[in-house]
Amino acid sequence: MSVLDKPPIHEVSIVTDNRVVIVTGGAQGIGLGIVKAFSEGGNQVVIADIDEEAALEAVDSLKDSTVPPISIATDVAGETSVRRLVDDVANRFGRIDVIVNNAGISAPRERIEDFSITDWDRVLAVNLRGPFMLTKFAAPWLRKAAGGGCVINLASTRALMSEPNTFPYSASKGGIVALTHALAVSLGPDVRVNAISPGWIEVADWQKSANRQTPVHRPEDLSQHPVGRVGKPSDIASLCLYLSSPEASFITGQNFVVDGGMTVKMIYEPD
Ligand code: NAD
Repeated sequence: MSVLDKPPIHEVSIVTDNRVVIVTGGAQGIGLGIVKAFSEGGNQVVIADIDEEAALEAVDSLKDSTVPPISIATDVAGETSVRRLVDDVANRFGRIDVIVNNAGISAPRERIEDFSITDWDRVLAVNLRGPFMLTKFAAPWLRKAAGGGCVINLASTRALMSEPNTFPYSASKGGIVALTHALAVSLGPDVRVNAISPGWIEVADWQKSANRQTPVHRPEDLSQHPVGRVGKPSDIASLCLYLSSPEASFITGQNFVVDGGMTVKMIYEPD
């Protein structure tokens, strides 16, 4: 068969509908952008968020989507809560095809001498143990997903570089990048696992109504990005759609930096 007999590239469409998708932290911010994209794309999305007020608002705002999302209140750091989420989704829909481990928190910035071990434990529990537990409990379903299961983990450019006094957040995101390749080699070939490391994604206007704010950016905020702007949730959501599609079936164990080029821009003041 010559290459000319193969279908033209432009006839290959990205098929991303008809799956059951769990998005943790899907009530606000980047997670809400991901929920919106999958719901409009014809997938049954389950929002698994600790903030029930925000989740109710999110469900209401997307009620006219191709497939409206539902919400199941979840604390991703709690074993019982995550087990119940998986059981509930499996009982309702009989399948789990995609999970997006998006829920994440940071801690107050303090010198290491003053840093609270309680804060360290909570950040690691939400940001790292949570994705491990959800993937563990959903694995039997993901392994038998038609066309292969998919896990997408939200890491951060802070897995690769830091500001001072951000210990547990950076450590948790570095852990996510490593967990991603560990899961990819453990769950393949049935399940693909990838990470996305966002840079600066503006989410002030993607919060529940009580906390929503209009973003304001200084010229230097924009110019530190080679693309000339900060990111928005749809920049991450569109990559989630692609990574979960059959067209990404050769991609697993990777970490994709999506930051408008911010982390490749050298800060250099010539004499
Ligand atoms: P956000 O604070 O806007 O939204 C996070 C959501 O997670 C909220 O709805 C919150 O209620 C929920 N959540 C918090 N703790 C939870 C828990 N224990 N169980 C379930 N849900 C919980 O955050 P965001 O900025 O949209 O960030 C989303 C993800 O992207 C996080 O993992 C974050 O670390 C990562 N990230 C964000 C940026 C950015 O610039 N916004 C950059 C890099 C990485």
